[in-house]
Amino acid sequence: MNIKRLLSFLFVNEYNCILCGRELPVITRYHLCSGCYAKQEVIGADACLKCGRMISGEGQYCLDCQNREMSFDRAFSPLCYSGGAASLVMDLKFHNKKYIATPLAKWMTDKFLESGLTPDVVMPVPLHAHRKRQRGYNQSELLAKEIAGGLHLPIDVTSVSRVKETLASSKLQGGRQAREENMKDAFVVLDKGSVAGKRILLVDDVLTTGTTANELSKALKKAGAAAVYLVTYAVTREKAPIQEV
Ligand SMILES: [Zn+2]
Ligand SMILES: [Zn+2]
Repeated sequence: MNIKRLLSFLFVNEYNCILCGRELPVITRYHLCSGCYAKQEVIGADACLKCGRMISGEGQYCLDCQNREMSFDRAFSPLCYSGGAASLVMDLKFHNKKYIATPLAKWMTDKFLESGLTPDVVMPVPLHAHRKRQRGYNQSELLAKEIAGGLHLPIDVTSVSRVKETLASSKLQGGRQAREENMKDAFVVLDKGSVAGKRILLVDDVLTTGTTANELSKALKKAGAAAVYLVTYAVTREKAPIQEV
């Protein structure tokens, strides 16, 4: 274990801002100091009715959702994937700061509650067993546990398995088609009985292209899920429309 990792275990302090590390005079809901909180890009009413990303133009749906059918019903994120939110997701995922799952999940829970939707069960987006072994944990599972607790719902971590080791989207070339091909049949529903007829709330750390959530939702719907919702801590911005020249 390297020294940085060891220190992150020792200095888990509830009273410090999870972004800048400054001591909090009073404990805040999302464990951010007022300066870091003010810098967050919070998603308000100007969000896509399908994927929840912030939209810049007119209309109720982002350009991506206007041109593409997603298998999930609705997705929600409290924040844009930029600046502080992006570095917190990185901390949770790659820097072993598992303790920040609690404040991150709190914001996700608050955001989801605004929707008024009533799922039956919470399910983290599974990691492939190999990836989970490498990392030591599934960050989405940490978030899902907290969210299930906050919503007083059961958590299901066994009904779906990620059977295909996929490449990170960032390492893929060739756009959407390559991403979809990479993710195709990545998930298998092991227990259809516990999925059929259920309204499922999926939990992931971040929503980018939506390919992962789409493929998992597709598998769940095929197994009879009544509805699939998704909550993530952050979502990437709407892509700028192609400029006509
Ligand atoms: Zn701060
Ligand atoms: Zn959208």
